Amino acid sequence: MRIIPVVIAAILASSAVPASSQDFLGPLEDFVETLTGPPAQHQPAPRAEPGEPAASTPPPIPKPRPPSLPDEPVVATPAGPVLPAVEDDGEPAEEADAAPVEPVPEPERIYQVACPAVITGLVAAETAPPLHEGICGEQSPLVVTGVMSRGRMVPLSSPITTNCQMAGALPDWVETVDLYAETVLGSALAQIDTGISYMCRNRNNASDGFTSEHGFANAVDMTGFTLEDGRSIAVEGDWLPAAAPEGRLLRLAHDAACGEFTTVLGPEANAEHHDHLHLDLGCHGQSCTARICE
Ligand SMILES: [Zn+2]
Repeated sequence: MRIIPVVIAAILASSAVPASSQDFLGPLEDFVETLTGPPAQHQPAPRAEPGEPAASTPPPIPKPRPPSLPDEPVVATPAGPVLPAVEDDGEPAEEADAAPVEPVPEPERIYQVACPAVITGLVAAETAPPLHEGICGEQSPLVVTGVMSRGRMVPLSSPITTNCQMAGALPDWVETVDLYAETVLGSALAQIDTGISYMCRNRNNASDGFTSEHGFANAVDMTGFTLEDGRSIAVEGDWLPAAAPEGRLLRLAHDAACGEFTTVLGPEANAEHHDHLHLDLGCHGQSCTARICE
């Protein structure tokens, strides 16, 4: 009965797994080598210890940091932050070679004020450049071309240059005359006939004395009115007879103006005003509340 264990041991020895795969593939590699030549020598990459470079690789070259632009915010988008565009053409900045830039003088500021009568549409007017002519002048003159009356703009025969106070006093006066013309003379105003407005001169064109309110854009001369039916009513030709419809309208215009302006001078005042009504907002009296109505 000793034969059986010997046979089992022989079987186990012939079917045993090789000690290593090298031993198992050895004959195959020898065969491939005869066809292709010896294999290249493999040198396994040395492993670097954490915190120090590998011994066989050159030290890393630090990359240049992107320019920091503290004043340019980084914009976040769904695709990630977008950095502001940076010139990367390699050219040096021009500021190094640029000639010094001459400062450009800013245009001189013109200080003017707004006018309520213009803002609200009670007069048709545009702001003109400041007027400065010796003692005369006005910083915010208006060129008035029409005056509102009862829902429509009554044009002036020629534009007048006034200050804002004069422009603001015109609408109520024109409306009073306009209503009277339609009610009594049967035809409303179609036009206001105007004379001198801004002019740097003395009162009554005298060679000396006080400067006229015309010199401050604070006075207007009115020579008459044109009605919608075509009639022309002029101070020069229609002041008399006083009882005629045209004479009454001119007196109505004169007297109504005394409620809106501080100075009203007509043909009764002096010969200088035989052909127009002079209207202004000059200061009379200690507190600028006195009126002259002649
Ligand atoms: Zn005048």
